[in-house]
Amino acid sequence: MGLKESVKSLKGIGEKKAAALERLGIFTVEDLLLFFPRNYEDRRNKASIREAVEGERTVIKGRIDTIMDDGYRRGGRQRLRLLISDGTGSLEVVFFNGKYLRRIFKRGDEYAFFGAVQSNFGKRQMVHPEFWKGDEEEEGILPVYPLTKGLSQREMRRWQKEAVSMASEAEEFLSEEIIRRNRLCGISYAIENIHFPGEKQRLLEARYRLIFDELLVMETGLEAVKKAGENKGKGIAFSRKADTEEYISSLAFPLTGAQRRCIEEISRDLEGEASMNRLLQGDVGSGKTAVAEAAIYKAVKSGFQAVMMAPTEILARQHFEGLKKAFEPFGMEVGFLSGSMKAAERRETLRGIKEGRIQVLTGTHAIIQPEVEFAALGLVITDEQHRFGVSQRIKLREKGENPNILVMTATPIPRTLAVVLYGDLDVSVIDELPAGRQKTVTRNLTPADRDKCYDFVKRQLEQGRQAYVVAPLIEESDSIEARSAQETAEELKKRFSGFNVALIHGAMKQSEKDEIMKSFYEGAADIMVATVVIEVGINVPNASVMVIENAERFGLAQLHQLRGRVGRGEYKSYCFLITEGSSQIALERGRIMESSGDGFFIAEEDMRLRGPGEIFGTRQHGLPDLRIADLARHMKILNRTAEEAGVIIQKDPQLSSDENRRLRERVVKLFGENISLDL
Ligand code: ADP
Ligand code: MG
Repeated sequence: MGLKESVKSLKGIGEKKAAALERLGIFTVEDLLLFFPRNYEDRRNKASIREAVEGERTVIKGRIDTIMDDGYRRGGRQRLRLLISDGTGSLEVVFFNGKYLRRIFKRGDEYAFFGAVQSNFGKRQMVHPEFWKGDEEEEGILPVYPLTKGLSQREMRRWQKEAVSMASEAEEFLSEEIIRRNRLCGISYAIENIHFPGEKQRLLEARYRLIFDELLVMETGLEAVKKAGENKGKGIAFSRKADTEEYISSLAFPLTGAQRRCIEEISRDLEGEASMNRLLQGDVGSGKTAVAEAAIYKAVKSGFQAVMMAPTEILARQHFEGLKKAFEPFGMEVGFLSGSMKAAERRETLRGIKEGRIQVLTGTHAIIQPEVEFAALGLVITDEQHRFGVSQRIKLREKGENPNILVMTATPIPRTLAVVLYGDLDVSVIDELPAGRQKTVTRNLTPADRDKCYDFVKRQLEQGRQAYVVAPLIEESDSIEARSAQETAEELKKRFSGFNVALIHGAMKQSEKDEIMKSFYEGAADIMVATVVIEVGINVPNASVMVIENAERFGLAQLHQLRGRVGRGEYKSYCFLITEGSSQIALERGRIMESSGDGFFIAEEDMRLRGPGEIFGTRQHGLPDLRIADLARHMKILNRTAEEAGVIIQKDPQLSSDENRRLRERVVKLFGENISLDL
C-alpha cells in the first residue's frame, strides 16, 4: 500500500464510496491526505452527568437505561428519547428524527454523547448530540471535513485515520534550507496534525506549514511564468512618427484627461527600446477601448500587427465591429478569429495573419492556438484580463518576438494581490469618466414594485431607449427559487406587446447569440433579457435601463459590472435591483449600490462584506483555487514564499532539477492546464 494508490486500497472504500470521493477530487490516498478539514470539533471536554456545565459542549459517557418512543411526531419525524445514567446522575437524550436510530440503540449499551447539556424543567437534557459506541475512539480534537452526498463525517475520519498512518511516507519536497529558514515543521508531521492535531499548538504548526506550501507552490508557478515571459533580447520600438493624434482626432468625442495621460504613458513605452509591459486599469465605462485603439494605431503605423484578445465571443465580436469602424477608414485591415468559425473562413484568416495582410486581429483565446502565426506581431492586448488564466497572456506574447503588452481590466484588484499577479507590470489608471456621463440612478426594489418598475421601463422604450433585464438562471429550476431568463422573457413579451423582446443566455449556440446581440446593437430588439453572459464589456450606448431580477443572488462586484452596461452614452440611465427576501447582506449590498458608482469603493465594500475570513475570488483573477491559504489573511506568508520562489526559479527556471521534481509536480497540479512549465 502506498500514497499513490487508489483510495480503494483503504478499508471500507468500494466503488460507490470511491465515486463519491472522486467528486471531491480525491482519487489517491495522497489526495485524501491533502484534503484538509474545514473545521475542528473540540471533544476534549469530558464530564460526568452531574458535573457537566450547562451550555458547554461536553462528552458524556453513560449506559442506556430506557428507550422511549412516545409516539410524538412532527412533520413526519418521530421523536426518540433515551435515558442515560453514569452513576452520578441521569440524562435525557432527545432525537427528533429518531426513526432510524430506533434500530441502533439497545438497552444496556454504553455510548458516548457529545453536545451541550441543557436544563429542561429540572431535567438534564441533550438534544441531537453526536454519539458513538463507548469503545470507539472519537475524542480529542476531531476534524470536520467538507463532504458530499453519500459520505459521512465518521467514515471520512476513519479513512483519514488510516491514511494518516501512512503520512510518514510523504516525501519532503522542500529543501532543508527552506524548512530551517522559515522554521517549518516537516511534511509528515504537518499532514498528521492537520487531521488529528491532539493539541492546538500542533494544529497551528501544521497549518502554517501547509499554508506556506500552498502559497509557495503558487508563487513558484507565477515566478516560472514571469521568468519565461521575461524579455529575451531587445523589444520592439514603434516609430515616433506614428502619431496617435491622427487617430484621436478621428474620434467622435474628445478624450478625457485621464485617457490622454494613459495614451502618453503607453506611447512613451511603445517608442522605447524595451518592450512594454503595462496594465491599464479603469472602471467600467471609463473608455479603455479608445486608449487601446490609440496604441493599435501606433503599432500598425509603425509597420507591425496588433492583436486584442477578449474573454467571450460576444465581447470579441463587439471589438471586431468597433475596430473595423475605427481602422478601415485608415485603410487598415481588421480580422477576427474564434473557435466557432467555418473552416474555410478560418483558413483564410490564418493566411491573412501569416502574410501580414491582416494588421489588426481580435478574437477569443482561439488566438493563442499554435496554428496562429503572425508576420510581425508588435502589440498584444488582453481585454478584461482578470478573466484569463495566468499563463495565457504569456502564450499570446510568445506569438511575437518580445511584442509590447497591454492588459486591461475593470476589476479593481486589491493592491497586495496586484503585486502577486502583475508584479512585473507598470500600471496606468483611467481615473475619470467621460464628461457628461451621468451617474446611473440606482434603486432597490421589492417584488411588489415590479409593475411600477416595468412601467418605467416602458416609458424609456417609448422614448427610443433600450433596456436589459438580467435573471440569475437560464431556465426554470425545481430546486432553486429564482427567476429564469426564459420565464422572464415570456412574461415580458406579454407585458411589452408593442416592443421586441430578445433572449440571450450562455447555453445558446454561438451563431444564435451573435444574431441576437446584433439585433440589439442595431436597435431591432428593445429589451434584452439575459443571464450574466452580458456581464463584461458589452457596449450599447442607447441602452438606458438595467433591471436585475433576484439581485440578492449576485455579488457586489458583479452588480457593478452589470450596471456598467448602461450609462455608457448621453442618456440618463437607471438600474433597478429587484431583491427577494430580506437577507441582511443583500440589503446592505443594495444600499451600497444605491449610494456609490465608484468601482474601487465597491470592491472594498465587497471585501468588507464578505469578510477577511472568506477566501476572496482567486479564480476571478485567473489564479488557481487555494485550499488552505487565504490571500487576504496570509499576506505575510505570501511575501515570504514570494521571496523563496524567486530564489528557486532564479536557480532553476523550469524546475527541471531532481531536487525540484516534487515541487514541480505540485505546481503542475495546482495550476492544471493554466500553466505550462516548458514555455
Ligand atoms: P470600458 O472602459 O468599460 O471598456 P469603453 O471603452 O467600452 O469602456 O467605453 C464606453 C463608452 O464610452 C463607449 O461607448 C465609448 O465610445 C465611450 N467613450 C469612451 N471615451 C469617451 C470620451 N472621452 N467621451 C465620451 N465617450 C467616450
Ligand atoms: Mg471594455
